[in-house]
Amino acid sequence: CGIVGVVGTKNATDILMQGLEKLEYRGYDSAGIFVNGEKTAPSLVKSVGRIADLRAKIGIDVAGTMGIGHTRWATHGKPTEENAHPHTSASGRFVLVHNGVIENFVELKEEFVANDSFKGQTDTEIAVHLIAKFAEEEGLSTLEAFKKALSLIKGSYAFALVDTENTEVVYVAKNKSPLLIGLGEGYNMVCSDAMAMIRETSEFMEIHDKELVILTKDTVQVTDYEGNEIPRESYTAELDL
Ligand code: GLU
Repeated sequence: CGIVGVVGTKNATDILMQGLEKLEYRGYDSAGIFVNGEKTAPSLVKSVGRIADLRAKIGIDVAGTMGIGHTRWATHGKPTEENAHPHTSASGRFVLVHNGVIENFVELKEEFVANDSFKGQTDTEIAVHLIAKFAEEEGLSTLEAFKKALSLIKGSYAFALVDTENTEVVYVAKNKSPLLIGLGEGYNMVCSDAMAMIRETSEFMEIHDKELVILTKDTVQVTDYEGNEIPRESYTAELDL
């Protein structure tokens, strides 16, 4: 029911876990994080239950400079570990979290992806399989594959996507689910809720429906789904803590 992502920080695991703890109030039945980095192995950890249950499963080896996290409120598929986000492509190359509902997931599944590719029953999983198909079978770049998937997906979403071959970028898109960017010194974040980022930064950037964001540690590029750049100012939030 909430997503968080970060790139460029010294300790992505901490930032993601703090973010997820702040998102708990939105309701959840399971949670998970994916962390990666130039000098660390990619790690995926998921758990049914509270964020504390997820935290208990995270060892010191789960470390990196970028990652994505999710608290799930199941809409399609039971609250099990395999249905918890992040979801991965069959190859393991693409990793994705999603808040919202993909309304046409059954149709997309029938048209594009073999049944045995699916590990769980969520509406979300189709998104990561589509991206992998367009990148790995059709040879599109990650960005183009993401854009093609977005052009086919109907429904509400805040997506954060990672290509494990590139530890410098988090890809983000939004439609009808809450999402905003948090800007830091030498790192950038994305989250469903400003409160989950307020410990790290007070500088935010709004993202509107049907916008895509390419997030690196020191750049935030906002575009429409055709790739046209959209200028967007950031703002400083004055929140009482
Ligand atoms: N529809 C997705 C699922 O059931 C995402 C739910 C959410 O926003 O937490 O897994």
